[in-house]
Amino acid sequence: MERPNAWKTYNKTDLKKVDLLAERYKDFLNRGKTERECVNYIVDALEKKGYLSLEKAVHEKKKLKSGDKVYLNQMNKAVVAFHIGKHPLEAGMNIVGAHIDSPRVDLKQNPFYEDADFALADTHYYGGIKKYQWVARQMALHGVVVRKDGTMINICIGEKDDDPVVGISDLLVHLSQDQASKKLSEAITGENLDIILAGKPLEEEEKEPVKAQLLRILKDEYGIEEEDMLSAEIEAVPAEKARDFGLDRSMIIGYGHDDRSCAFAELDALLSLPSIPEFTCCGMLVDKEEIGSVGATGMRARYLENALAEIANLMGQYSELTVRRALQNSRMLSCDVSAGFDPLYASAFEKKNAAFLGRGVCYNKFTGTRGKSGSNDANAEFIGKVRRIMDDCKVSWQTAELGRVDQGGGGTIAYICALYGMEVIDSGVAVLNMHAPMEIISKADLYEADKAYRAFMLNA
Ligand code: MN
Ligand code: MN
Repeated sequence: MERPNAWKTYNKTDLKKVDLLAERYKDFLNRGKTERECVNYIVDALEKKGYLSLEKAVHEKKKLKSGDKVYLNQMNKAVVAFHIGKHPLEAGMNIVGAHIDSPRVDLKQNPFYEDADFALADTHYYGGIKKYQWVARQMALHGVVVRKDGTMINICIGEKDDDPVVGISDLLVHLSQDQASKKLSEAITGENLDIILAGKPLEEEEKEPVKAQLLRILKDEYGIEEEDMLSAEIEAVPAEKARDFGLDRSMIIGYGHDDRSCAFAELDALLSLPSIPEFTCCGMLVDKEEIGSVGATGMRARYLENALAEIANLMGQYSELTVRRALQNSRMLSCDVSAGFDPLYASAFEKKNAAFLGRGVCYNKFTGTRGKSGSNDANAEFIGKVRRIMDDCKVSWQTAELGRVDQGGGGTIAYICALYGMEVIDSGVAVLNMHAPMEIISKADLYEADKAYRAFMLNA
């Protein structure tokens, strides 16, 4: 039952392909550190391959037919792309869906204050993080500030080599006796994750001169008033770039493998489909998974259904029943990262049912916590079909569950799509130190995920 290591299956040509994909992926990670930046990258890539904006197609009442490609941009934070196939929509779609939001530290709406001759920003962390991992490190600020008149300012500070970076301080070890005796989860508090932004007083300023300095920079360099922060979304993320990990360069360390490794593999697979696939293929790249798939850009919002209804309408196939059947009859890979087995923390895993870095794309029948609570728990019939497709297409794959029973757990978007009655299974890339500022994956697993998602869209 042990799954073979994917690296053993590669010839010279394969190894070259693994490396080329890894190079393109690192570029994606470096250019997409927020969901908005990912959407920019994705829309650009889709349009280059002939995808049309659905909004535009609807506006122009464009007739859609097999072979046409359209995408929906949901508020610049999520994308759903459709490549219309030969079969009618009612026959269901082959869907692959990943998320493009990652854990991070967000600035609050009233963030700035001065203390001890520093200007700092108050924050609220996003997603599940081990807070101690986010202090004493270089961070970059990414996001948007929207003025009252609707104009938007893009922020990206800390990515260019000569950019300044910012960060959160930690207490020196010499004075950490109290801190060190606390529980790991309590040693750093959420309210203490404040970011140092400046440390020099503005000349001739009496009241809060360092904060005044900060505000002067924001005003002069970006045209931002303090009040504009009320309508801003600024995310502090690790400033490092993705790079090769291991002396054999077999792995990649970077920010946001969860879930941009799956998102990238999915996008790459989608863009490589033949001109008219058998069934309509759908790639979803969604937001807010890390906080429960909520909000208008999370999977729980109805934009998949709405976009499908619009497409059915432009194809002259619309009825409520058509849309319902199309969703019910769909097959889906919910693409999200899996917990890679870590030999240093072996006791958190059950080794027979753990994902190993390098053993290929990982399938999780179920996720969830305790007694599979919150899980999708894929049907055996569907898993049988997926096994056949993976083997026929020579994909290296493995199965796993998220750690030992009752050790914790997690969820994905799978159960939300399953609400339509479609077949769904979780599938993804194994990650080491998931949700840490810098995560690790194997290049082989990224390559196998890419192959798996293409095989699924063509054969499910
Ligand atoms: Mn995830
Ligand atoms: Mn996650």
